[in-house]
Amino acid sequence: MKAEIIAVGTELLLGDILNTNAQFLSRELAALGITVHYQSVVGDNPERLEGVVRQARSRSDLLIFSGGLGPTEDDLTKQTVARAYGDTLRFDEEELEHIRAFFAKSGRTMPENNRRQAMVPTRGRKIPNANGTAPGMIFEDGQQAGKYAVLLPGPPKELQPMFLDSVRPWLAAMSDSVLHSMTLRVAGLGESHLEDKVAHLLRGENPTAALYAKTAEVIVRITAKAQTKEKAQEMCRSYAQKFYDILGDCIYTDHADSLEEVVVSTLAERGMTLATAESCTGGLVSQRITAIPGASEVFSYGACTYANEIKERVLGVKHETLEACGAVSPETAAEMAQGVRKAAGADIGVGITGIAGPGGGTKEKPVGLVYISACSADAVYVKRIVVPNRTREVVRISAAQHALEMVRRLALSLEQPGCSRFAPGKAAHMETAE
Ligand code: ATP
Ligand code: MG
Repeated sequence: MKAEIIAVGTELLLGDILNTNAQFLSRELAALGITVHYQSVVGDNPERLEGVVRQARSRSDLLIFSGGLGPTEDDLTKQTVARAYGDTLRFDEEELEHIRAFFAKSGRTMPENNRRQAMVPTRGRKIPNANGTAPGMIFEDGQQAGKYAVLLPGPPKELQPMFLDSVRPWLAAMSDSVLHSMTLRVAGLGESHLEDKVAHLLRGENPTAALYAKTAEVIVRITAKAQTKEKAQEMCRSYAQKFYDILGDCIYTDHADSLEEVVVSTLAERGMTLATAESCTGGLVSQRITAIPGASEVFSYGACTYANEIKERVLGVKHETLEACGAVSPETAAEMAQGVRKAAGADIGVGITGIAGPGGGTKEKPVGLVYISACSADAVYVKRIVVPNRTREVVRISAAQHALEMVRRLALSLEQPGCSRFAPGKAAHMETAE
């Protein structure tokens, strides 16, 4: 069944409100296994609405409308759709009573123009509105059986329950399949590198898999279509296994929403604590960690140490290190991580120092260069990243993401790809020739 969603309302075209009804309906239809081919928005204008309805009816089996059912719209949507689907509207006594009662409940009398809302399809059927006055309605195409138009009120608190209570069961009974999706999150591998590794898995038709690149992580979305939800879930799980076979522990979750969530739960499971010393990220890592409920169990200390003097005084970074190697150096990052770990008495320490730009870069130390260190009692790891030609924000987000991924790997005792390893207390000197 091919569906499309048509949101009616000039407010939407003016950008006054966001079309969240389209998002809600698209998600719900996808979950029912109904393919949505188009979403459109049209203003409260009869000619243009008629044009949209005509085109949509010619190419789709199911049209779902949101909005334009209120008493002020001259029944714009209802009239137009009724005409296109070869139906008429009739006055419904019972509906009028419902509308009257709705007003009475809040101690108001019904304005006369609300009578219009009691007009319902003659051949089609009305859908009760438990949370408002305007009933929804379903029209069946007079010329092509099995093609429908569903009209729903604009306010989400009316549209959503009406869809869930009345429309979804009706559609589920007609549809013979459900869709299920699964999301894998991958850190530490760029999109093109990842694509090379899993290209053959991205060509499947059922399940399908697609990559979405975010800042310093890639999302793999797997979607399967089957007769039952259980079957679709099982298909997703076995397809996900193929990704695990190739990407292994680079997949950091198949259920959590973010890397910080995984870091907090991983540390909590192991009874470990974390402390951070951040320079160019200005506390971004600690901000992300503390946004997760339960962070207090695992996070003890986050320092934003911008000035060299503070790096020395608070973290114990050696004056000579800063003099000889500079603030943006593997040596400084490693001393920051060890310093904050010690100051907090934490299991894991993080140190981040870099040049977020746009100014301050040199040939040897370009904008986008960041050194990230994560250390435990036994080892100090340092990673050098260069995020070229990007904004300050992207440099900061990337650096924080790499830091969180290093913490996750340290907590799980996994290898640290792309990092140099040092013994605690030893100078973290890296050859950095490009
Ligand atoms: P009413 O009886 O309230 O007039 P209606 O069916 O005529 O309902 P609209 O007039 O189009 O619907 O919209 C009423 C309100 O519903 C809007 O002011 C807006 O807050 C919300 N709304 C309408 N369309 C959408 C949409 N597509 N997404 C999210 N909210 C919407
Ligand atoms: Mg309205």
